[in-house]
Amino acid sequence: MICCPLCKSKASRRFPLPHTAVWKCVNRTCGLQFADQQPDEKQLGQAYRQLYYPASESEQGATFENTPPEVLRTFFAYTSRTIGRLVGLRMLDYGCGIGQMAPIALRYGLRVTGIETDASARAQAKRAGYAAVFENIGELQERGATEQEFDLVILWDVIEHLREPWRDLEKLRTFVSPAGRLVVATMNTDSLRARLFRSGWVNFHNPTHLFYFTRRSLRKLLEETQYTHVEEWKVFTSYSHHSRIRGSLQRALLALGLHGELIFSARRLKRPRLKKHGASNLTEKGLDREVAESQGE
Ligand SMILES: [Zn+2]
Repeated sequence: MICCPLCKSKASRRFPLPHTAVWKCVNRTCGLQFADQQPDEKQLGQAYRQLYYPASESEQGATFENTPPEVLRTFFAYTSRTIGRLVGLRMLDYGCGIGQMAPIALRYGLRVTGIETDASARAQAKRAGYAAVFENIGELQERGATEQEFDLVILWDVIEHLREPWRDLEKLRTFVSPAGRLVVATMNTDSLRARLFRSGWVNFHNPTHLFYFTRRSLRKLLEETQYTHVEEWKVFTSYSHHSRIRGSLQRALLALGLHGELIFSARRLKRPRLKKHGASNLTEKGLDREVAESQGE
């Protein structure tokens, strides 16, 4: 039997893909969708080189790397309206890739540090303007980063690639400052496109995607990994090349929750609960009570 790796409930198979199958947790408060089995390291390495980090320009690739700059500009404008002035704040870009976010973050006066496991992407990111780019959280710690060091910890289109995202989120939690935020952006598996294309949706066919989140399962993951004040940021991006009709359609999709990209913000739980496990221990009631208490802090 395949179980949900987050809440341990039974999972049912949605459909097969050429490289794996998509499973969905039957627990209605969770509903996490995930790839089982996950591709092995060799397959993943190949897929990353092909899709994200081609070694040379003659190789086809980098199909998925670029978030349009308008999206990132709109995101930082939204962040600044929501949490106030960003000048001087310390940001950690977890899974920074080739460093697309750096130029825009620097314009807002943020001090940016990156983490990226891919060596060639890391080398490019270093040139993009980060104060430092580390290979992983361990190296960040070895180089003297302290707990609660960052005001903004961002995972932009990263969480769906992680083998055990709850582990990363738990480790990252200690680096979020008391007033700081974790921000997670990922493709929306409840989006209109995902619903229309079902098993043909491009994000299912990307073999580097191991999880497919909806607003419910993303919230569940953040709460289970001891974050609080979990809220969705509905960020509308207007593209200069889009017609007014297309703009209106985008707004409608956002209002209905059928838009392409989920963005969630959360804070660290000040008094973390004791953990026993991989991911989930608390009953729903217990979890709700804990979260309610911490929000009342
Ligand atoms: Zn589940």
